[in-house]
Amino acid sequence: THFGYQTVVEDEKEERVYEVFKNVADKYDLMNDVMSAGVHRLWKDYFMSRLAPTSETNLLDVAGGTGDIAFRFLNYVKSSTAEAYDFSDSKLDLDADDVVVDQEPEKPDAVNSMGSVAKPHVTVLDINQNMLDVGKKRAKESGIHKGMSWLCANAEKLPIPDNSYDAYTIAFGIRNCTHVDRVLTEAYRVLRPGGRFMCLEFSHVENPVLRRFYDTYSFEVIPVMGKLIAGDWKSYQYLVESIRKFPNQEDFKLMLEDAEFKMVSYENLTLGVAAIHSGFKL
Ligand code: SAM
Repeated sequence: THFGYQTVVEDEKEERVYEVFKNVADKYDLMNDVMSAGVHRLWKDYFMSRLAPTSETNLLDVAGGTGDIAFRFLNYVKSSTAEAYDFSDSKLDLDADDVVVDQEPEKPDAVNSMGSVAKPHVTVLDINQNMLDVGKKRAKESGIHKGMSWLCANAEKLPIPDNSYDAYTIAFGIRNCTHVDRVLTEAYRVLRPGGRFMCLEFSHVENPVLRRFYDTYSFEVIPVMGKLIAGDWKSYQYLVESIRKFPNQEDFKLMLEDAEFKMVSYENLTLGVAAIHSGFKL
């Protein structure tokens, strides 16, 4: 039946995405740098400057992978606030794994005596434990022992109470989810009133010259690089195809509005190669 077909296709997508990131986890950070010639770093820096978190922000970074957004969050708060934050907290002398809470996001490492989360704090959530493990290793190597926790879960069904977070970010992750509408409904639910949703995602290039160049690069160069560097052609071919299937800037804006977000806006990065969408729960 039509519905039977749909289920198979959806299950396949989830499995496929899982396999892709399991396969590329170790090489993920290197591949990002090579494929984008480092530009993803600039986009992510800019993304964080648009969020402009403060020392009072409790952030949920969904599809957070190896922690790129989370590390930027901690750095941003550290460098932009007057208070001297030391996320390494050498006094505690903890091993990074000791402070990682995988199952209880509402009570991460830094719950204070009042029972609420000590801020600033970021929860990195991802469906793939392999990606999180690479991120945890990075945290450990950078000497970060505070302000972060890691949670393996599906963005479509968050094991998190309503109204828990001040901000929700998702970078290059939402196009990999099977039901984008469910991801948005869940994002809305876990944000507190006044909280902000921000998404960084590949988007649609209008300029015909850039688009032709970009299409050739994506379809012909990226899978080859995937094969050469990560030994995996298919995963990178999938990633390119998923970018083309994701709604364009205006359609995604409408999806956010359908999910009840207010003051929804977007801005293009690099002529629409990527875009940042933002919305508030009011
Ligand atoms: N946000 C990171 C970054 O910008 O570097 C990682 C992005 S990576 C391209 C996409 C991530 O989405 C992967 O780590 C993958 O495991 C995760 N992912 C895919 N489907 C997911 C889902 N349904 N729920 C949570 N994470 C998911």
